[in-house]
Amino acid sequence: MPLLNRQLLHRETASLFTDRRQEEAGETKRMGVTARSGLFEVCGNPRCKSGWLHLWRSRSAPVFEGGWNCSAECTQERMRFAVRRELEGRADGSRGYRHRMPLGLLMMEQGWITSSQLKTALEAQRSAGEGRLGHFLIRDLGISEDCVTRALSLQWSCPVLPYRCECTDAAGSILPRFFIDAFAALPLRVAAGRLLYLGFEERPDTVLSLGIERMSGLRVENGVVRGSDFRAARKQMLSATFPPGEVLEAVSEPVLVRALARAVERVRPIASRLVRIHDFLWLRMWKRAPTGRVPDAPSIEDVIGSIGI
Ligand SMILES: [Zn+2]
Repeated sequence: MPLLNRQLLHRETASLFTDRRQEEAGETKRMGVTARSGLFEVCGNPRCKSGWLHLWRSRSAPVFEGGWNCSAECTQERMRFAVRRELEGRADGSRGYRHRMPLGLLMMEQGWITSSQLKTALEAQRSAGEGRLGHFLIRDLGISEDCVTRALSLQWSCPVLPYRCECTDAAGSILPRFFIDAFAALPLRVAAGRLLYLGFEERPDTVLSLGIERMSGLRVENGVVRGSDFRAARKQMLSATFPPGEVLEAVSEPVLVRALARAVERVRPIASRLVRIHDFLWLRMWKRAPTGRVPDAPSIEDVIGSIGI
């Protein structure tokens, strides 16, 4: 009898996804949430020891990285592999940042500032002990904000993104607030349901944008945003609804694995995925299939974990 219940449940789930996929032309797949198919499920853990007995277990969830887990032990074992994979992967944010021409030199080369203006701004920066060069060029020398933003876009070979406040509600679904705060990046706009414009005030963070691409299935276009626009957009964005989530710092890798696996077992998501962004492991869990271009925040739960030093 439990087997029959499971089969029926899966049939309903499968048709729900199929209809949505037809309606939204593959939206669920784009958002990284794919339906499980087939009546006889196989545990996603290749080292699963429960064999055919798992067919009698009344679990239709959790699903982690495209595979159903038959037991808490299997969830933990698959999480262990996922955490190892992410930690072994490269997440060196400094790559690609070398050999960039300093902003001041670039602006001088373009003829936008003189060498004495650059010298004055550098001295102001040095005596302040902090702050970006662009700030002093604007504040002390009257260089326009647009000019500094244009220089940043040349420096990082990326476009200047206009601030358009279309994405405020979706922002929280795309990026946890923790990352908006930690990396000063703003998801500004989703175009055609598949292209995300990610705005930065100073320089694009390719590790972050690649992580978002892996997590969301969206293609991410990085760009710089004029400083005053960035601050206005950020203020507006922080009023968005963000998915519930927790940030945890574990003392060791096994402790982190157990905490992440426990979260998957508690939430029982229909889809979940682990992606590393710099020193953080981001676990996102979808509790139901997305209904629009981007999922609504309450249908998601995030856990952001790191290993303490
Ligand atoms: Zn299993």
